[in-house]
Amino acid sequence: SKNNSQVEFRFFTPDMNEEISKKLILESELRKGLEEEHFLLYYQPQVSVAEGDVKGYEALIRWQHPERGMVSPGDFIPLAEETGLIVPLGQWVLEEACRQMVSWLNQGKAVSRMSVNISAIQFQQPDFVQMVKDVLAETGLPAEFLELEMTESIVQDPEKSVPVMNEIREMGVKISLDDFGTGYSSLSYLKDYPLNTLKIDKSFVDNMEQGSKEKAIVDAIIHMAHRLEFNVIAEGIENESQLQLLSGKACEEYQGYYYSKPLPAESI
Ligand code: C2E
Ligand code: CA
Ligand code: CA
Ligand code: CA
Repeated sequence: SKNNSQVEFRFFTPDMNEEISKKLILESELRKGLEEEHFLLYYQPQVSVAEGDVKGYEALIRWQHPERGMVSPGDFIPLAEETGLIVPLGQWVLEEACRQMVSWLNQGKAVSRMSVNISAIQFQQPDFVQMVKDVLAETGLPAEFLELEMTESIVQDPEKSVPVMNEIREMGVKISLDDFGTGYSSLSYLKDYPLNTLKIDKSFVDNMEQGSKEKAIVDAIIHMAHRLEFNVIAEGIENESQLQLLSGKACEEYQGYYYSKPLPAESI
């Protein structure tokens, strides 16, 4: 029967092949999703610790899969990076986020920044800076409203990445270092990078209590960032007590479920 042959097929399929075919399916679905525009952006507010007002929004991609429903980026960004699909996908994200920001500015919304995640694969494309320039020109977004979020994996090789980051800064676009503290880079690279903002990873914020080691680390990061003249954003603030611990420390901004989850543009 049909059932029996399926069981047999599974039984004789080594795990590796199954993994590969799952990947191939996901990859072709990703391509199809790109062509048919099944992706959308959610936006999470970046909030001033002192005043409680929204300073900017981080754009976060979602995949509206026809059968599987809403797929989160953790489930497809790694494969998009592996296959190179992150290049067209990331360009779509940048265009869409810039278009949205222009539309908010035209509506008179008091918001000064759109933050967009950039993957290392995108950043390493020879035409990356030109692509950003083109997107700003096409959408009409003034450069000072855009911030690019990069992780430590991008900034590992200073000889290659510092000149590219300088070009980005010269355009007027801002740069933030995402997930700070989770990479393997040494602290010494921080002085070489033209950063505007340092984002403290959620893992430090999670266990931050009065007197905890995590709080000592967060304090030290904020202090160091200010000495280097970077703004600081704490990620993943989920409750009042975490926010309280930040407010004494001149940490400029925070993001987290406590203020708002990422939301579709029409809910902002
Ligand atoms: P990320 O850049 O570190 O983004 C923050 C993630 O933390 C988001 O997950 C956000 O929804 C989540 N988050 C924010 N506040 C809280 C909180 O209070 N509690 C908890 N538990 N989580 C919180 P999301 O949207 O699933 O994105 C996951 C990752 O996928 C991002 O981490 C980023 O690395 C990547 N990603 C998302 N969108 C893009 C994109 O357009 N391009 C690229 N290259 N990567 C993206
Ligand atoms: Ca980010
Ligand atoms: Ca982050
Ligand atoms: Ca993260």
